[in-house]
Amino acid sequence: MENETAPMIIATTIAQVRTQVDAWKKEGLTVGLVPTMGYLHEGHASLVDRAVSQCDRVVVSVFVNPTQFAPGEDLESYPRDFDRDCALLRQHGCSLVFHPEVSEMYADDAATYVEILSEMPRQLCGKTRPIHFRGVCTVVTKLFNIVTPDAAFFGQKDAQQLAVIRRMVRDLSFGIEIVGCPIVREADGLAKSSRNTYLSPEERRSALVLSRAVALGQRLVAQGERSAARVTAAMSQLISAEPLARIDYVSAVDGESMLPVEQLAPGVLVAMAVYIGKTRLIDNFMVEESAP
Ligand code: AMP
Repeated sequence: MENETAPMIIATTIAQVRTQVDAWKKEGLTVGLVPTMGYLHEGHASLVDRAVSQCDRVVVSVFVNPTQFAPGEDLESYPRDFDRDCALLRQHGCSLVFHPEVSEMYADDAATYVEILSEMPRQLCGKTRPIHFRGVCTVVTKLFNIVTPDAAFFGQKDAQQLAVIRRMVRDLSFGIEIVGCPIVREADGLAKSSRNTYLSPEERRSALVLSRAVALGQRLVAQGERSAARVTAAMSQLISAEPLARIDYVSAVDGESMLPVEQLAPGVLVAMAVYIGKTRLIDNFMVEESAP
């Protein structure tokens, strides 16, 4: 059903979202959800575009979720520009933006969390961010309960997050389709991220080392290299040569379980987190089915 003329609704309360989604469902419309933390860019827009192409109505949440940040991380300094976000969302056909206060999402004495009790959320980013995926699973569960979408859209940029959400949806029988969307990059290769705004001009140039390492890894795989150790070592060497870069991890893992692998086969995720100055950036690639 066409929605081109309807103005975008801005909802700040859970009750408003529920009332609107109920009305849409009574009309027989399907609903897509795109969870974000705002300061939106073309990566987020690609998720909205995909959702609009697949669902009658699209809800985008803009919420910097405190439970996924540890003390000392960038919760307070995380960039915010809600007016600009709304302009982008209108352009891309979002029907409703959900922009709650923290108090709307979490009661002062909230103490219920959703957590995957396997190694999966402790790998990769989980090693330096041990409570991160518990916070992600908890807020995404709450958004699923509030919006009750037919489908939800997540970026492959956060590959571990996507795998964790898929596992949670399976384990808790959410019955929501999870759609993974490709990484959107700047013209020079840097994966788009709200955190790129932290980079000084010099750091911005250094940050290219992540996408160059991805390209190197992909090239080695295309040339037939199957040793995970050799590919991650070559990528690490390239990154280490960049003075402003400090490696958190460069790892090859199974794309579903996130457990380390020795051989690069289709479905393997090669992922990295690298500090450029104080800014922690991530990038990755999946070993393709078509690889020899
Ligand atoms: P964030 O606002 O950073 O929490 O991201 C919200 C959603 O946008 C997540 O599903 C991310 O994976 C996705 N996303 C962020 N950056 C990109 C990008 N460069 N390409 C594709 N998806 C992205």
